[in-house]
Order: sequence, then structure tokens, then C-alpha cells
Amino acid sequence: MPSLLESLLDHSYFLSLGKDFYSSLQPTPLPQPSWVAVSPELASTLGLNSHLKTDDAALNILTGIEVPSSLAPFAAVYSGHQFGVWAGQLGDGRAITLGQINTQDQSWELQLKGAGPTPYSRMGDGRAVLRSSIREFLCSEAMHGLGIPTTRALAITQSPKQVIRESIENAAVVTRVAPSFIRFGHFEHFASNGQHAQLQELTDFVITNFYPESLQHDKPYLHFFEMVLKRSAKLVAQWQSVGFCHGVLNTDNMSILGLTLDYGPFGFMDKFAFNHICNHTDSQGRYSFANQPQVFYWNLLCLAQALLPLMARDDSDEAMEQAVEEIKPVLTSFTNIYLQEYQVLMSYKLGFDGDTSEQSLKIIQELIQILDKNSIDYTYFFRNLSRLIKEPQLSLLKDHFIDTVAYDTWITSYINQLQILKAEPELTIYKMHQVNPKYVLRQHLAQMAITQSQAGDHTMVEKLQQCLTHPFDEQPEFEEYAALPPEWANHLEVSCSS
Ligand code: AMP
Ligand code: MG
Repeated sequence: MPSLLESLLDHSYFLSLGKDFYSSLQPTPLPQPSWVAVSPELASTLGLNSHLKTDDAALNILTGIEVPSSLAPFAAVYSGHQFGVWAGQLGDGRAITLGQINTQDQSWELQLKGAGPTPYSRMGDGRAVLRSSIREFLCSEAMHGLGIPTTRALAITQSPKQVIRESIENAAVVTRVAPSFIRFGHFEHFASNGQHAQLQELTDFVITNFYPESLQHDKPYLHFFEMVLKRSAKLVAQWQSVGFCHGVLNTDNMSILGLTLDYGPFGFMDKFAFNHICNHTDSQGRYSFANQPQVFYWNLLCLAQALLPLMARDDSDEAMEQAVEEIKPVLTSFTNIYLQEYQVLMSYKLGFDGDTSEQSLKIIQELIQILDKNSIDYTYFFRNLSRLIKEPQLSLLKDHFIDTVAYDTWITSYINQLQILKAEPELTIYKMHQVNPKYVLRQHLAQMAITQSQAGDHTMVEKLQQCLTHPFDEQPEFEEYAALPPEWANHLEVSCSS
């Protein structure tokens, strides 16, 4: 297996775009660095030795101490809407892309998050803290384990260097990995500056590298937008189906590849609450769980607006109006695509095998309502639901309901529907286990791993990473990670501070 130094030879393709798109710079070395955790699965996907932690040269590279001479690190510029308001120029304020690793079927960018200030840092220090780095590392790998598109995380490194947040914390760096970190905000940036040549260059770059099928269409930009919309609708449907709340769905946190991107105050819901707000700073609940699909639509509207100049034949009013007319039906299609994706996913979770008949949908809808009203643990409920197929009288779920009458009514119609659908019990139970995770990154698990890691013991971070890589498997050695949250977890709050 080649070392990181041997694999990371190429600078990123993104550099071919030219100087309007990024600033070249070197990371600021993280003093006295040490390893916190590594994802052996991702290391192996990248063709690297999974024992990265024994590689001192890799530690130096991933903490910005040594940059291979063939690389040209950079921070990219982008803009965006934050909490519904145009925020103007943002950019990689603390993320520096080192270069890329090319595997047989994919090229992967390696980005150091927390590697020091860049021209886009504004008032920030360019650093990330251990706490938020652990959360990003664990959740990236957990989402991948769940089969949800996401940026990945190869490693966390840390330093005794202290940085100031609400309290003083240790600095850390997460090595993020993705085919591309390009965001909706990149397109908005050039559109808002009236830099249409750059906008076109960027879009052509993304289409050529990531949406080549759009080149076969007579309207490639429209087709490209449609593909992004479809991927985004599918992504948010997957989030909703596992009870994941992102927390900061600004347009600069929206991946053009439909990946989950920028893990901040995210959360997997324990007790299901449809209007759950996971970001303590989001007082209006703009990014509540319930609002996520609608926010995706709003963000896609911003992207559509940015791409309009490319879709119009020329810059006359008529040409623009025609482009708007063409893009409208694509935008309108979002709701149906999202709903269909979501309904099919939920149907599989219930063991209905993708059936979305009126009766199946009614049962799904009623379930969401009673889970919400009774504050039922989302992951626990779905994981254990299949046990009722053979023994509908089991009380393990009913015991959690306040409104047991509503529960009884629902379970009767549920079992009845399984019979109507002729669901074969053994096969149905097996299939339900493939789509209902036993393990998700619950807030209290992340918090326990953080507390232990801050005290110098990184074992739990690695154990969680290992466990969450196979969330659908029974893993007796990790049984405790499937337990319901302890009482203190009800009071955990996460903010944007990272
Ligand atoms: P986020 O909320 O993490 O998506 O960040 C929003 C913007 O603030 C991005 O442009 C980030 O690069 C920037 N940013 C966040 N934290 C820092 C920091 N500590 N130093 C510099 N820039 C930061
Ligand atoms: Mg961001």
C-alpha cells in the first residue's frame, strides 16, 4: 500500500479554473500535532495504508507542517445566502484544499479544515476545535455507513494549541475528502458579481467532471440543474427518513454534488419531534427538521437564479423570460420528486417493500403523527418495529406511548396492511433490518466521545467510528451504543460555535 506522501501527488483539478476562483496559500502548521482518529475504511478506499497513524509523514502533511512540493494548496472563494439573507462573499475561511488522490474510478480532493487563516477568514481564526472536528469526523463516516451521500473524513489530528470559542478549546484539523467541495454559493458568487464568463467556466467544469450526461442534451445547463435538483431532493428525503437535521442549510453549505456538507450543529433526532430545531442559534426555526425539504427548494431557487444567465440565449429581457419559463417546471418538479423518494424510503422502513398505495401512505402519515405526539425515539422505534410482525402483542414499543389507544389503532392497521401486501414475515424482517439502522450518531454518544477525547482518551471516537460504519448490523460488542439516551442528553444543546 502506498503512503499518503506517495499517493497525494496531484494538485486539484479545481486549480485549472484560474485565479478568480481561489487563493493559493500554505496551511499554517498545527504545532505539536498528534493523531486523534483515522477512518480505516476511507483510507482503504483511497488506496492508502489503513495504519495511517503509524505514518509520521502523513501526520505532518495533514497538519500543514509539510506540504509535498508537487501540491499547490488553495482556499476557494464563494458567496451565499445565510438564514435567508444575502451574505455576499464568504469562501473557505479555514479549509485549505491540499490536492487530490486519484483512485481507479474517482478523484478525491483532500481538504484540511482548521488549517489556519485564509483571505476569506473575515474575523475568524482559521481554526477548528477538537469538539466540532470529532462531530464532523464521526457524522461524515456515519452518514456514509447509512448509504447517504456525504463528504467523507479521513482523520482528525489535534494540537495543544488553544483557541477561543465560548471557552478555551484545543485546536484540531479534520481531513475532509470529497470528489469536489463546490457549493451552490460558488455559482451565486460569480452570478452576483456579474462575472458571467467565470460562471460559465465553473459550470462547464462541474458538468464535464461530474455531470457529463448533461453534455448529451440540447440544453446542457437546464439538464444540469435538473440533475442537481434530483440529487438534492433525494438527499433531503434520505435525511428525513433517518431523522437527521443539518442545522445550517445556508446556500454555501449546499453541495453541487448532492452531498451532505459542512457538519455543524447537526443532530439525529432521539425523541421524534417534527418541528425539532437542532441548532440552538436558530431561534426562528428556519432550519427545523420539518422545514428542510422546503429550504432545499428555496436554495435550489437561488441556484436557478444564479444559472439563469447561462440558460438564456442572450441577455435581452425576452431571452431571460424564456429561460425562466423553461426552468419553472423543473423547479416545480421538486416537490413530487422529494415526496416520492421520501414515501418509498418510508415504505421500505415499514416493511411495505416500496408500496406507496393510498392505504400504505395513510399508515405512514399516521405513524409520523403518533411518533411526534408521543415523543417516541425515532431510531429505536423503527429498528424494533419488525419484532411486532411475528408478535404484535409485544409491549416493547407500546410501553413508550402515552396515547396507547392511538398506538393500538395504528398497530392494527399496520399489521393488517402487511397482510394485504402479503409480506412474508422472515423476508420482511430481514429487509427492514437493512434499512432501519440500529446505530446512529446520537447526541449523547458524540458528547461522551468528545469529553473522553478532550481528556486524552480517543478510544470512544474510534469505537464509534467503527460501529457507525456498519449501522445496520447487529454488533454485540457495541450494544451500549444502541441504547436509548440517558436523561442528561435531553438537555444537550449545540450551537454554530466550532
Ligand atoms: P460555517 O457556518 O462553518 O459553514 O461557516 C460559514 C463561513 O464562515 C465560511 O466561510 C467559513 O469558512 C467561515 N468560518 C467559520 N468559522 C471560521 C473560523 N474559525 N475561521 C475562519 N473562518 C471561519
Ligand atoms: Mg459552511
